[in-house]
Amino acid sequence: MTILVTGGAGYIGSHTTDRLIEQGTDVIVVDNLLTGHRAAINPKARFYEGDVRDRDFLEGVFTKEKIDGVVHFAANSLVGESMKDPLKYFDNNDYGFIVLLETMVKFDVKKLVFSSTAATYGEAKEIPITETTPQVPTNPYGESKLTMEKFAHWADVAHDLKWVALRYFNVAGAKSDGSIGEDHHPETHLIPIVLQVASGKREKLQIFGGDYATKDGTNVRDYVHVIDLADAHIEALNYLSEGNDSSAFNLGSANGFSNLEIVEAARKVTKQPIPYEIADRRPGDPSTLVASSEKAREVLGWKPNYDDMESIIATAWTWTQQHPNGYEK
Ligand code: UDP
Repeated sequence: MTILVTGGAGYIGSHTTDRLIEQGTDVIVVDNLLTGHRAAINPKARFYEGDVRDRDFLEGVFTKEKIDGVVHFAANSLVGESMKDPLKYFDNNDYGFIVLLETMVKFDVKKLVFSSTAATYGEAKEIPITETTPQVPTNPYGESKLTMEKFAHWADVAHDLKWVALRYFNVAGAKSDGSIGEDHHPETHLIPIVLQVASGKREKLQIFGGDYATKDGTNVRDYVHVIDLADAHIEALNYLSEGNDSSAFNLGSANGFSNLEIVEAARKVTKQPIPYEIADRRPGDPSTLVASSEKAREVLGWKPNYDDMESIIATAWTWTQQHPNGYEK
């Protein structure tokens, strides 16, 4: 089986590519390297540098390779940036997805797994969030992903293109040997920033908001280890190969950690003080995002292996210590 991974040089895409290859799958990676890293791509994958919005480029890849299914990551994914530059998100995430869907239809590729997000739910009225919780995004990033889910639905109705949307909650950690991990420029995610403070690269952490209606006033998020998340994509591909219907699944742990609890857990793992200050709220942030992943467990057979925060952070810490400058040499 040959699988095309778009965004395979990114954080989740590179870990998924790695897991697919470990399991003997032939993998093609497409990435424009705007946020991804060439060094993150498993050398056994065939790499094509280019943008999914570039129809000639993408059709060229589908012409050269015999593709059986697609795992689509290539997208922008930052809440804060999306509030400032929403059209960038609709262009890259939604227009890029249209070109991908049209190319799949043209080349008769009918299996698609793609990244969606907890941000499609917005300020959810029920916790834990299930797949039937109303999706009312509070930021353009979430809106762009909800739109992708809608496009996929109609592509199935019209073209029998079967898809799985995986609604990620918060993703953290790295491959346990520390060879690949999370490296964004600029870094905006909580756990890598906390570890930059622990390693002395940053003076202190700013926690965005201390007056939310949560246990300690800081946002609550649900963290999944990146390898567990990668494995869910492989299970979703198997689910589609078995001829099942299109569907969306939450991927979370059902455990909510406040931002202050993350700092505490990171202090234990790193044995560093990790100073912080409470800063203004970050626009677009819902107060609490915690998933029920019962459906993924029951239907996909997903069984996360990492179920405690300290072991998730420990793998990110190994990566940080081995790669203090990320993928830069
Ligand atoms: N956060 C923070 N300080 C930072 C980065 C993030 O307080 O320097 C908070 C952010 O406001 C949110 C949580 O950490 O409450 C997780 O944010 P992240 O950007 O990692 O993921 P998101 O939830 O946006 O997907």
